[in-house]
Amino acid sequence: MPNVEAPVVGKDALGRPVKDLSVVPWWGVERKEIEWYPKINYDICAGCGICFVTCGRRVFDWDSEEGKPVVARPYNCMVGCNTCAMICPCDAIEFPPKEYIKKWVAKGRVTKKAFEIVSQITKKSNMSEEEITATPDQDPPKKG
Ligand code: SF4
Ligand code: SF4
Repeated sequence: MPNVEAPVVGKDALGRPVKDLSVVPWWGVERKEIEWYPKINYDICAGCGICFVTCGRRVFDWDSEEGKPVVARPYNCMVGCNTCAMICPCDAIEFPPKEYIKKWVAKGRVTKKAFEIVSQITKKSNMSEEEITATPDQDPPKKG
């Protein structure tokens, strides 16, 4: 994947630099075409701050008045990542279902592109042509 430099666009509530990662395509797909980012259920968010403090892509900022995170830069979120949802102690963060992202993996031909990269350093192929070239309308075949 090309290494695109993203511009610094400001600072967050802790004074940490913020980049606009929304300009960086995901495997050739415009990032803003993909609706992958966290949604916070404020009814159950306790305001612990783990999501805001730990997300290195600065998706969150912090509402100091309310003591709650805000999804300030949704398209900075790494497509397919759900770390903040995994570590939220209240299960207050939601993402689209796995099926949604798998469609984008197929549409972006990510399997094929990734396989081409590892092929350069791999002597033995473990994937069939069918697995490598799965299309958007066809889920990748299961192993076994
Ligand atoms: S980690 Fe969960 S509970 Fe903590 S601030 Fe974020 S959303 Fe709220
Ligand atoms: S999923 Fe990952 S990149 Fe996206 S907001 Fe959560 S921690 Fe940040």
